Amino acid sequence: MKVSKGRSFLFRIPEDEEFGAFINGFAKRHNVLIGTVTAIGTLRNPKIGYFDEESGRYRVMELSGTYELVSLTGNISIKDGEPLAHIHVALGDSDGRLWGGHLIEGEVFVAEVFVQELLGEILERKPQKNGLALWDAEGL
Ligand code: ZN
Repeated sequence: MKVSKGRSFLFRIPEDEEFGAFINGFAKRHNVLIGTVTAIGTLRNPKIGYFDEESGRYRVMELSGTYELVSLTGNISIKDGEPLAHIHVALGDSDGRLWGGHLIEGEVFVAEVFVQELLGEILERKPQKNGLALWDAEGL
């Protein structure tokens, strides 16, 4: 699908907010229907997932403590009629080791975020047999 750039947003999320819920609410308030998200900062007690293809479910890793948000990348599209952010993270522990995966939950200590709105057809996530909710594939 061909898209073009819309509005760009650079902001900091208030402390104690849940990262994904905040981005979903932000997208709804600003009517960002498709877009990209990047961020750096620090998250507390993040939960990350690894999608297990065999079981069709996420294996959840619950990390406790404060982790450097070394890198966060994701996208925004529509699911069940509302904008939904799909986010992956690389999280650094106190020894500099990285944990990574699909962000399920993360409490914000610091989050500096860039959201790029994209304009084009609406991309919608639809439930698949493999357990995931995905966009239609395109052989561009
Ligand atoms: Zn994911």
